[in-house]
Amino acid sequence: MMLAAAQTILQRVFGYPSFRGGQLKVIESLMTRADTVAIMPTGAGKSLCYQIPALLFDGVTLVISPLIALMKDQVDALGENGVPATFINSSLTAAELRRRLHDTAQGRYKLVYVAPERLTAAGFPELAAKIKISFLAVDEAHCVSQWGHDFRPSYRKIAPFINALPYRPVVGAFTATATPEIKQDIIKLLGLVEPQVFVTGFDRHNLYFSVLRGENKLEFVLDYLRANKGKSGIIYAATRKDVDMLAKKLQQYGLAVGKYHAGMPKVERLENQEAFLRDDLPVMVATNAFGMGIDKSNVRFVIHYSMPKNIEAYYQEAGRAGRDGEPGECILLYHPQDVILQKYLIEQTVYSPRRRLHEFSKLQVVADYCHTSRCLRQTLLEYFGEVDVPAHCGSCSNCNDDRKAVDVTLEAQKVISCVYRMRERYGANLVAQVLKGADNKKIRELKLDRLSTYGLLPKQTIQELRDFIGFLAAEGYLRLTEGKYPIVKLGVKAAAVLKGQQQVWRKVQVQKVVVEDDLLAQLRRLRKEIADRENIPPYRVFSDATLREMCEKRPADHAALLKVSGVGEVKLKKYGAEFLQVINAAAN
Ligand code: ADP
Ligand code: ZN
Repeated sequence: MMLAAAQTILQRVFGYPSFRGGQLKVIESLMTRADTVAIMPTGAGKSLCYQIPALLFDGVTLVISPLIALMKDQVDALGENGVPATFINSSLTAAELRRRLHDTAQGRYKLVYVAPERLTAAGFPELAAKIKISFLAVDEAHCVSQWGHDFRPSYRKIAPFINALPYRPVVGAFTATATPEIKQDIIKLLGLVEPQVFVTGFDRHNLYFSVLRGENKLEFVLDYLRANKGKSGIIYAATRKDVDMLAKKLQQYGLAVGKYHAGMPKVERLENQEAFLRDDLPVMVATNAFGMGIDKSNVRFVIHYSMPKNIEAYYQEAGRAGRDGEPGECILLYHPQDVILQKYLIEQTVYSPRRRLHEFSKLQVVADYCHTSRCLRQTLLEYFGEVDVPAHCGSCSNCNDDRKAVDVTLEAQKVISCVYRMRERYGANLVAQVLKGADNKKIRELKLDRLSTYGLLPKQTIQELRDFIGFLAAEGYLRLTEGKYPIVKLGVKAAAVLKGQQQVWRKVQVQKVVVEDDLLAQLRRLRKEIADRENIPPYRVFSDATLREMCEKRPADHAALLKVSGVGEVKLKKYGAEFLQVINAAAN
């Protein structure tokens, strides 16, 4: 009964035909009035999981959200779908604040977004005591935990706030971060009562993952941007300096890119962000400071210009592609130098030796991801704790590698026995030098030139050998110890290779390019026109997914257009005629 109602709201208000993986379970749990923790990755569609119950419960739903920018975005989006919602935060003038508090007390809104600081601000507790808060949704709930990367002390005010209410609302906690410590903190510090916990939707089936090693990064990016002109994308670089450098180079080549990092003047940063949201600047070059709280659904690619510090950060950043469910490409450009840079950054920011070691080992997992020949999607999903993941996804650069795997058993045996003869005491660089047969003081002093494995692989460069060692480590033939200077040891599969019981195969990655349809380009232009006219970002008019579906189905009238996913009744009325005109013109 309730679920049928949820389904109706999904279609009539939000214009989507069906729920995504996990959404319905979370909604169902909340509708039985159970406290609920939903751990879903970015883009999985957490917002609907509390917005739909909010429309089904009577009274008001309070949404606690950490970022002012995010609130405005969400409230605007709800407004466009005809849902009465507002936000109350420090960006408002005193008069506007009073008006909204008053309207909230009058029951004019179904959803009210507030920052946690607001819970104890003047006038708010009094208001809360007067209205009926049926449901309290805590977005980005990991902020309550000190273990997370963005701890917000004011999140600790939520539990006392709930306790002070005249009666207890259903509490839902939503986050993309799910380490056990954080999960426990969320439950304990938000005071959840026997919560139902759901971990779902980590797979992003529409994302294509690839890792490219040994590319000239700048050339790759230039080629990629030229081949994908007009598409929206983010290029993440590791440092502010790298962002400045890369943005400048790309601009010199005539490419329309903006940049964003925390070292820039605020005005300029925000201008660029706004231009990106409006598709005026299709591509943003940025540090990881960019993206949190930006719900731009039509990002088509995310390129990591260098490796990120851990898999969580990678998946979150890469996950900003394809939030509309349309194809998105996530490309990681790997160079061994990146590891050194990331270690340096860890040393600059993490002081506790224990934590440093922890960060180094997380970094190693990323290095393994960069070297593996297993399915990249499987590697990622297993990292997040999903079970029964298929070994072949068919849409990652490892699964789609059409070059034949090469038998590298002999080379592997040489490397493994070299590590063994070096008594598992040195790092990858020295192992590579010995295999290469390098002649230098250190090698002579350590008498490594006397080993039987000295100079066994003379034709390869030191870099190629290091890369190969990285690959063998990622596959479990070798093992790298934790710490800043990892030592190469034998892996669990080393013995089998040495004994000739196991062969080693290695593949190299390739990439692909997608072409675009003409009607789609026209619809995009129309969307941009409307967006500029209405002064909202284009993806807010309709998502890329919706435009693409229009191209496929070519709806000829209002009724047909309403069946397109993403077209709700309000938007149909507002934009339907214009879109139908373009679609029908294209049909003639
Ligand atoms: P997050 O989990 O990161 O908060 P959002 O709630 O912002 O994700 O949702 C990401 C995008 O997916 C939004 O554009 C949203 O409208 C869309 N979306 C959510 N649920 C569905 C659905 N069932 N069908 C189609 N699109 C959906
Ligand atoms: Zn795969």
